[in-house]
Amino acid sequence: MSKTIKVNTFAPAANAHGENGPEYVGNLRRGELRGIIKINKDNCVGCDTCRKVCPVGAISGGLGVVHSIREDACVACGQCLVACPFNAVEQMSFIDQVMQKLDDPKTLVVAHPAPAVRVAIAEEFGAKPGTLATEQIVNAMEKAGFVTYDINQTADQTIIEEGIEFIKKIQYWVLGKRGPEFEKASHHPFPHFTSCCPAWVKNVETYHADLIPHLSTAKSPMQMGGSIAKTWAAEFVWKKDPRDIFVVGVMPCTAKIFEAARPEFNNAWKHLVETGRIPADTPSFQDIDAVITSRDIAEIFRRKGINPLDMPKTRERSTMEIYTGAGTIFGASGGVMEAALRTAYFVLSGEELKDPDVKVVRGYQDAVVEATIPVPIKELGGKVFEVRVCVVNGALQGLETVLRRIKEDKNRYHFIEVMNCPGGCVNGGGQPVRTDGAAWLNPTLPIPVQL
Ligand code: SF4
Ligand code: SF4
Ligand code: SF4
Repeated sequence: MSKTIKVNTFAPAANAHGENGPEYVGNLRRGELRGIIKINKDNCVGCDTCRKVCPVGAISGGLGVVHSIREDACVACGQCLVACPFNAVEQMSFIDQVMQKLDDPKTLVVAHPAPAVRVAIAEEFGAKPGTLATEQIVNAMEKAGFVTYDINQTADQTIIEEGIEFIKKIQYWVLGKRGPEFEKASHHPFPHFTSCCPAWVKNVETYHADLIPHLSTAKSPMQMGGSIAKTWAAEFVWKKDPRDIFVVGVMPCTAKIFEAARPEFNNAWKHLVETGRIPADTPSFQDIDAVITSRDIAEIFRRKGINPLDMPKTRERSTMEIYTGAGTIFGASGGVMEAALRTAYFVLSGEELKDPDVKVVRGYQDAVVEATIPVPIKELGGKVFEVRVCVVNGALQGLETVLRRIKEDKNRYHFIEVMNCPGGCVNGGGQPVRTDGAAWLNPTLPIPVQL
């Protein structure tokens, strides 16, 4: 059995912009976090491994020379961190803030765990690699003082949003429908790109700005959850003042730390002020207050003396822990696409997809997966429209190929899923770092039945 390496962390520094500073410093807006991933110069031996795995060329340094990360160029994916054999790459961490909130009796601390987290933590406590321990981990979170709001539930909502957006695009661009309900689709041509991976979104914003109109406008599951937690759930489920709710994304991902701090993600605060539920002079707060990684939650368990493997293997799910299988597969490459295609197929054809597993787009062995999904269009008397899809399984491995193909033929695909990390979030930069160098979803390891 492999062991995992403890990753060094550092507390977030004061914002480089200052409270009333300029709106932009470099390419970072006021409120956005910079330097989420750093190289510790004392530990770096210049082996050059990190530079080779960086999807955006943000790392400088030659063999034998201490390396460094250019903050403006970095998309915070953490792939350099999990690849560094010398534990020289460190991560910004909100563990201390979360621990303080857990000790505050006035605050309801909500853990919002992503699907890929639950296959990784168990090994930190001695279980076999890939062990799925959802109930035990949620029970452990509860023991630590959290209430749980499962991200699988908001992944379902992202799929509905993204699926409907894709359907509108087909109706506008392919079937020629017009009218006010297609106004948004008219500004967002094919190919349609997924938007739930913040490292990919930052990659587009920094390096491929011409693709911005092609990105889905659906928020990621974590961001959907943050705003629902402080509005609907605060009022109807937890019956708590939203100002006393602290929502913590528990993610396999370091780029999510960046996403949560984006200034536009204060939708709950805007809604609550607009509807008079909180006073108009309430200082703005983010939908997600803090993001901790799989490594961080394991550290919180350790500091509180909790071993998730000692927790009961069953639990009665609360309202905020109910979800479908579509939300569950978000954590694996191809999962977002597969889930959205099921919705699109149903709406456009009027029938359920006979084999709901669109497995052709799932997987991690190939950097780029292409497929054609025939969809009989109900309003065209069953005439088949072929939806051409593509999944990029790791930005470094497959993105360049796909962008070149689009340049050569902009009609080649209708729908493209891009996940920055190879294999998707299960191999994210926030997952435990294994001493055997293996990734979490690796052909040599048993694949978890459910992610
Ligand atoms: S992989 Fe680690 S040790 Fe090697 S150059 Fe990068 S930071 Fe330095
Ligand atoms: S975090 Fe990702 S983008 Fe940033 S330097 Fe590391 S590998 Fe490159
Ligand atoms: S693939 Fe997943 S883990 Fe990796 S950067 Fe994107 S959202 Fe984060």
